Parts: sequence; structure tokens; C-alpha cells
Amino acid sequence: MCEFCHTHGEGKKWYLQARNYSDDLLADLRRRRFIEDFFRHPESTKDDMERLDRLHQAPRWLQSLIRRRVTGRMKRVHYGQVVPLEDVERIFGMVNSIVRLACYCRHLELGSEKRYCYGFSMTPGGGLPEILRRLDDSFVNGPHTAGLETLSREEALAAFREHEKEGLCHSVWTFHAPFIGGLCNCDRSDCLALKTTVTHGVPILFRAEYVAVLDAAACDGCRLCLQTCQFGGLTYRPSLKQVFIDPRWCYGCGVCRARCKRDAIRLVDRREVPAAARLW
Ligand code: SF4
Ligand code: SF4
Repeated sequence: MCEFCHTHGEGKKWYLQARNYSDDLLADLRRRRFIEDFFRHPESTKDDMERLDRLHQAPRWLQSLIRRRVTGRMKRVHYGQVVPLEDVERIFGMVNSIVRLACYCRHLELGSEKRYCYGFSMTPGGGLPEILRRLDDSFVNGPHTAGLETLSREEALAAFREHEKEGLCHSVWTFHAPFIGGLCNCDRSDCLALKTTVTHGVPILFRAEYVAVLDAAACDGCRLCLQTCQFGGLTYRPSLKQVFIDPRWCYGCGVCRARCKRDAIRLVDRREVPAAARLW
């Protein structure tokens, strides 16, 4: 189990604990202010990213110090974890209000609106959706749309299935831990969290509680899954005419599983795979 499961989940999956979604946590003014500033001032995230792009130029000791500091701060204010579709469904089963909004990262990276982010709340109309509505920000609402979209659980889950077909990996996010306010759909080219974590080696999200394993007898070596992995977890072995899943690199997103037509990939508890059990 990841560190958050121990600190915020009493040894169970922290993002499946109802109290971490409670609107009571939003009574903390510091937390509310953080959320408002986060969405109102995307330029500060852009500045942070530009600094990270130059990180490799710093001496090694300084790189390591900065990495530790950024990860430590993000664990307090805005940290995530990769979650497979079945856990997205469990999360949607716990909340009562779901809105879809323009993706913060794609807004910064591409300057265009991609509706890959979802906010939710236990109380209908409350929580993060209520804060987002009040912000009345052209980024949050998107320049070409009428505003936040309210979705039913079924609609939201259907949208996540489509995102998975696009090859996007799902992630759940805190806004001042342990409060959980949203789910995103990430890819390494445009998602700042994956860039920060994987490209720059500064973790701001945990790997999933799962890891993918291959049923070698079922795999016919078609390689459809190979194009899906954002993390370098899959390679093709020509001599065996099969793919190989390296548990040391697998983030447990399950996107390769969705692509396999032979059901040759499944997700298992990360703790069951010694090579991955301690990798977060
Ligand atoms: S998509 Fe499935 S059958 Fe094809 S290579 Fe990947 S695991 Fe094997
Ligand atoms: S191997 Fe599959 S489950 Fe693991 S990170 Fe890559 S796409 Fe996700």
C-alpha cells in the first residue's frame, strides 16, 4: 500500500475512504483558498514547469534537494495516484455530484480546451463543483462552452471508458491532503503531472495499487498493447513472439489491458509482485 493508504486510509486504499471526500474538509479556509488560487493562477504552475525544464542543468546534489522538496510540498497540497477504471467506478459510486471541466494541463500546454478533468463532491452541488462554479473563470468554464457540465455517474464512467480507449491513464488528486477533489485523464506528452514525475523524475503522483501481469499462454504477440504504455512498462520479445511487462516500470494504469483483445493482461495487487511491491 502507498504512503497515503497508511496516513489517510488506515491501511486501506485512501481514495476509497468516504471521509476524504467530505465537504467538511472544505471548511478549512486554507484549503479553499488553495483550490481557488490553483484554478485562478495557472501561470504559477507554468513558471514551476519552466524551472523543472532547467533542473538537469543544476549540480546533482541540488537536483536531489529540489526533487525531495517539490515532492514533499506536493504531498501536502496536490498529490495524485494512478487508478484503474474499476477504482474510478468505485469512486463514482461514493460521490453524489460530478462535473467535467477543461483540463488544466492541456490548457497550459496546448492552449486549447480538452475536457479530461472531473471534479466531484459528496453533497449534491457542494464541494469542488461549488467552488468551480463560483470562480466563473474562462479557463474553468472553457472559452467555447456554456460552463461546467454536470454528469451522471453512468455518463462520467462512459466518458472514462472513452478516455481509456484514447490511451489516457486515470489519476485521482488531492487538494490539500487528504481532501480528494478530482480525477484526471493523463498522457505523458501533455499532462504536467506525468511530465514532472516520469520525465523530470520528481514524483507528484504514486503508481497504482496494482501492477499488470501477462498471461503468456493467451498472448499472440499482436503488439497492440505496446503503443499504449506511457511508462515504458512494455517491450516486445521477438524470440518469444510475445510482449514482456516489466513490473519495475509498470504504473498499473490498466490501459494496455483495455487494448488487448485476447484478455492476456490483468491487474493484480502490487503487493503480490515482489519486484514492484515497494515501488511507488
Ligand atoms: S495486445 Fe494482448 S495479445 Fe497482443 S501483444 Fe499485447 S498482450 Fe499480447
Ligand atoms: S504496462 Fe500496462 S498497466 Fe503497466 S503502466 Fe504500462 S500500460 Fe499501464
